[in-house]
Amino acid sequence: MSGRLDVVPKIAVAVAVGRPSRNRETAQERYSPRLRDWLYAEWSAFKQLEAEDDARIQQTSSRYDAFWSIEQLIGILTFLKQRFPDKVQLVDLSRRFGVSGLKHPLLAVKLSDQAELDEDEPTIRFDGVHHACEPMGMMVILELIFALLTQYETDPEVKRWVDNLEIWFIPVVNVDGYSWMRETIRDSPWWRKNLRDNNRDGRFEPTTDGVDLNRNYNFNWSSGDAIGASWYFRGEAAGTEPEIALLTRLSREQNFTIGISYHSYGEGVLYPWNGYTDPPDLDLIVSLGTELAGAISREHGYGGYALSSLVGYLGQSSNWNYGELRTLDYTVEVGTDHIPHETMRSLGDAFIPGQTEQKTETRIHRMAEQQINGAKVLFRRMGGSQISGHLLDSQTGQGINGTLDVTRLDGTASHQLEGDHVRPRRTDPKTGRFERLLHPGKYRLSFTAKGYQEAIITVDIPTSGNDHQPLRVPLKRRQADQTLTY
Ligand SMILES: [Zn+2]
Repeated sequence: MSGRLDVVPKIAVAVAVGRPSRNRETAQERYSPRLRDWLYAEWSAFKQLEAEDDARIQQTSSRYDAFWSIEQLIGILTFLKQRFPDKVQLVDLSRRFGVSGLKHPLLAVKLSDQAELDEDEPTIRFDGVHHACEPMGMMVILELIFALLTQYETDPEVKRWVDNLEIWFIPVVNVDGYSWMRETIRDSPWWRKNLRDNNRDGRFEPTTDGVDLNRNYNFNWSSGDAIGASWYFRGEAAGTEPEIALLTRLSREQNFTIGISYHSYGEGVLYPWNGYTDPPDLDLIVSLGTELAGAISREHGYGGYALSSLVGYLGQSSNWNYGELRTLDYTVEVGTDHIPHETMRSLGDAFIPGQTEQKTETRIHRMAEQQINGAKVLFRRMGGSQISGHLLDSQTGQGINGTLDVTRLDGTASHQLEGDHVRPRRTDPKTGRFERLLHPGKYRLSFTAKGYQEAIITVDIPTSGNDHQPLRVPLKRRQADQTLTY
């Protein structure tokens, strides 16, 4: 690894608004046209950032040239923060959670109307590039951030999402693995795992090292692949990898209602889970997943993505997020290639009639646009049928750190929506906020918290509209002697 990569590039802070220019000194066509053109028009230093990358990669061209480097990613996010200071919070997760071990900063971006404040609002997560050779996730996420920021003033729906939600993005999870591959094995970018030194010999060797980050989550981790040289190596223990420690800590802190993890490829939406005890929210997960998959056009323009299930074991992110936090979590396999490039592969129906060749940039942009349609489904669902509100101390009115158990009441039958293999949904420890997406119907809710008496209420979620009323649920403190009586 080059020491050069260890530092945030100087260019990241050299932000200035310059005259619009679209002249390129290098011939490559790169990036999504809208974001790239906008950067050219808005940010004079962007050209320098590109020139630095051109100088670095001069000797060998690669399919990777169309994808941002980590240095470019950092520069762009830093510029977006400066350009939209009230709506963007840029977070170095390693610093925030005090986790070391990575060479590059693992960045998260939060979008909201007062992004620097921790507002009492529901949260949603988008992450990409768990696997180094799947950079489409980063491209999709940057286009999505860009769309939300630039359409805020003109699209009332976008404004409503940004104002009322806290929207979190982790564009590249596997920062070190991605950067190593983009810089080092340019002619054959096939690397999947992170750069963990499995045999502890002090150097990174692709034949033996690396952990598959999407097998390292602490949810049925033990069924994963135990062989270090394997593409799918789960790691020495669950949650060992710094990337996963950072993501799971952020997820616990933010308690996301919905999450999506972008991979590539396969034009499919995967949900948790099948081949294992049924998840209690299966019908909800499948119905939202069907809507999500249907909203994302396939690359050839006909039909939507396919919906299928993850297996419930193997330590994958969507399973952990659902099983641990009850986040409705999806893995989306973007596109028809790990790394889209100029010549369309003959992958059956990936062929676009009348168009055998396309610029990488054009393909990336179209795929990103198609993913934005899917993201919109999730944003709209955040305001759909659910129960939400605050769990509060009946005397002080302070928020309570508690849990919510849900039972669906179907006429005379009742159906417990909790189980041994999933944890109940939690409240925000500071505000007591809770939300849980549910189908319309009648439910019995049980709220519990340490030191408090349980509260049980019955609610009816109407079939029409999005006008659910937030609940205010006061809990009474237990008397000290009651707590001690066993
Ligand atoms: Zn993947």
